Amino acid sequence: MLEIQQLPVLNDNYIYLIHDLDSGETAAVDPAVSEPVLAALKLNNWQLSYVFNTHHHADHIGGNLVLKKQTACHIIGSEADRQRIPGIDQGVIEGDCLNLGKHTIQIIECSGHTQGHIAFYIPEFDALFCGDTLFAIGCGRLFEGSAEQMQQSLRKLTALPLATKIYCAHEYTAANARFAFSVEPDNADLQQAIGRIKHLRANNQPTVPTTLQQEIATNPFLRANSPEIQENLAMQGATELAVFTELRERKNRF
Ligand code: ZN
Ligand code: FE
Repeated sequence: MLEIQQLPVLNDNYIYLIHDLDSGETAAVDPAVSEPVLAALKLNNWQLSYVFNTHHHADHIGGNLVLKKQTACHIIGSEADRQRIPGIDQGVIEGDCLNLGKHTIQIIECSGHTQGHIAFYIPEFDALFCGDTLFAIGCGRLFEGSAEQMQQSLRKLTALPLATKIYCAHEYTAANARFAFSVEPDNADLQQAIGRIKHLRANNQPTVPTTLQQEIATNPFLRANSPEIQENLAMQGATELAVFTELRERKNRF
């Protein structure tokens, strides 16, 4: 059995702790800072075995070195990010498998936000830790990759089972939903989601994890083929890539 803890840190980041009850192994995903991780480990009486980094940005690797010093954890990141991830011990690529106790974790390369961005997927638990690639009702900004690359990465993620839980690295959902509503106001699933999100945020509750099924129904970046979105963008019949590119540019300015 795995236990997943979600630690809200900085303005809107989430760090995840994945703990395997059988082996006692624990991984921290994208530790932006070290203190809340160390506090949670102490509270649960867990030892940190691994840090998993999805990409090199400061709000995902900021706690690496202190955690390594304090816990002697093993730091795993993208082979492509070897020079940019502090304290990295092991570089991984698409298709590699890691273990947390007896559980298998698959590496999915999903560049676009950065080059060499990776996701950690645990098929047995329908859990995907995808950093800044797929967000609830949004997707990451294109800092190092192209729209085409991001769309291909998102296609890889949306090919996973619909029940997959999406543990993304930021609580951006309310702002993402406002943008989604501006391009697809008649989407009933989106309208319902907005109600839920407002309620959750008003109570200071996380809207993450979401599920792949929910994202396919509401996330404009997965819905470039929606006739309503195409019409609102005056892009009827345009390619999905052209629509996706326009959506990403509009979101940047929104
Ligand atoms: Zn980032
Ligand atoms: Fe980030």
